[in-house]
Amino acid sequence: MTPKRDSAVRVGLVYPELLGTYGDRGNAVVLVQRLRWRGHDAELVEVNAGAPVPDSLDLYLFGGGEDDPQVMASAGMRASRAAIDRARAGGAALLAVCAGFQLIGHSYEAADSTMIDGLGLVDAVTRAGPNRLIGELVVEPDPPLPVLTGFENHGGRTTLGPGERPLGRVLARTGEGGDTEGVVGDRLIGTYMHGPVLPRNPALADLLLSWVVGPLEPLESALEERLRGERLDAGTASGVRRWWRERLLARG
Ligand code: GLN
Repeated sequence: MTPKRDSAVRVGLVYPELLGTYGDRGNAVVLVQRLRWRGHDAELVEVNAGAPVPDSLDLYLFGGGEDDPQVMASAGMRASRAAIDRARAGGAALLAVCAGFQLIGHSYEAADSTMIDGLGLVDAVTRAGPNRLIGELVVEPDPPLPVLTGFENHGGRTTLGPGERPLGRVLARTGEGGDTEGVVGDRLIGTYMHGPVLPRNPALADLLLSWVVGPLEPLESALEERLRGERLDAGTASGVRRWWRERLLARG
């Protein structure tokens, strides 16, 4: 049994009005619930748009968003940079999804060519791509994480610097978006996977939680496994369909 902390684990949902377009709030719900199921006190803290991001949270969640809300969110995040740095230096973990992932890099180029400065927590830049990538995504991370699934919907293409480690290799996706996905850093995960990603991939939720509370006992997960199976099937089927389409096109 993991020794319990004196205080509740504070899971912070940052600017959900701006960075919550694709249901990423579900990630916070899953993290809190998986802690409670194991007997930990846990609290969901919402940091409303425009408010300073506090340094007192244990886990920070930056979600996805459309370009305009993303510009607004980035200003508040940059203004809170010192607090975020303090929290991370004190051991806090961070999950950044899509727009959130783009904003933990150095910069994001929006579809209308506006350049947005990010936090620079990882060595990454995002440029506007030629089209939007929309569809199921299947990613193979390094062990011990199992294959992950998500849903992506974004125009930006993120390039990691040479010192950064991707979250995994892309096994299947619907468009041409590169062979790797996301980033893993020091108590930090960035990813393009919505879904939301954590209900679909409880192992990823538990990895984040273990960074905050230490090793965790396993949970019964028949329902989650059923969802994983179904989404793996959907994602791989779309990858296979794309492969056939490309072969047919190549034949002319
Ligand atoms: N606005 C960003 C893009 O289109 C992020 C989209 C998202 O968060 N889903 O690339």
